[in-house]
Amino acid sequence: MVKTVVSVGLPVLETMHIKKNRLEPENKNGNERRICIVTGIHGDELEGQYICYQLIRRIQESKEFLTGIVDVYPCVNPLGMESITRRIPTFDLDMNRSFPGDMDGDMSEYVAAKLVEDFEGADFCVDLHASNIFLREIPQVRLDKQHEESLLEYAKLLNTDFIWVHSSPTVEPASLYHSLNQKKVPTLSIEMGVGMRITKEFGDQILEGIFCLMHKLGIWSGPVITPKTSVISSDQDKVTLIHAEASGVFLPCVEHLMDIKAGDVVGNIVDSLNGTIVQHIIAPCDGVVFTLREYPVVYDGSLIARILGGV
Ligand SMILES: [Zn+2]
Repeated sequence: MVKTVVSVGLPVLETMHIKKNRLEPENKNGNERRICIVTGIHGDELEGQYICYQLIRRIQESKEFLTGIVDVYPCVNPLGMESITRRIPTFDLDMNRSFPGDMDGDMSEYVAAKLVEDFEGADFCVDLHASNIFLREIPQVRLDKQHEESLLEYAKLLNTDFIWVHSSPTVEPASLYHSLNQKKVPTLSIEMGVGMRITKEFGDQILEGIFCLMHKLGIWSGPVITPKTSVISSDQDKVTLIHAEASGVFLPCVEHLMDIKAGDVVGNIVDSLNGTIVQHIIAPCDGVVFTLREYPVVYDGSLIARILGGV
């Protein structure tokens, strides 16, 4: 059933609504567990759209296996999605810096507070993000050291290739991830693909993981896959960054997710005015290209790739 979580009046006779779809068993006993699937905090990250669509479709198709409550929030920053912007456009605010919000605050704080009110009491929350338009990312769960012990076992169910445990608190205190974990709603954040696009194979992969998680939580009794064995890594462990050392146009010689060896050519940065190569980028180690530059224009210092597996 589609429900409106929050409505906010816009300046000229329009209203912004944020909606969710609640899926629940036909016969409830009152003790059902509840999971929230959230996406669209960043309006230009669309990978989660496909997952929400497939999740709802598959649950509706096999409703007999649903033993708990699934709340799906496909678009929590509708103005951002409408205008293809990451932030909330009218305020130029990153919504993922607005939580837990404030019922008496401005529009963005009020919306965040109403969402948190709706999430509270849930047994789990999964927050789906995509990368930006610049970098293509392997599906990955990102968590901080503080929550490693409580959340890692759930992160492993999500069928990602990679679980990145940040040793430094890179996760902002005002993010949904941080706010909900503070409020005792275990929450995991997933990042995948590229901004403004949908990568169906990544979506299918995460979808299977969500079913595994729901199975574990007692929300889904249908058949599930055995999730992939994720590589678990911390900042200093097994992740090597390659940055541009010149400005120009990046032409990759490797593909995303490709295994490479130290000494392989990752790509070239070229000068399109003089027809020359300004940097020949060589892999410093063996590993898998788990992040790869998608947007060709680069400057000295731009991130070109992250390699998983070698240091
Ligand atoms: Zn995001």
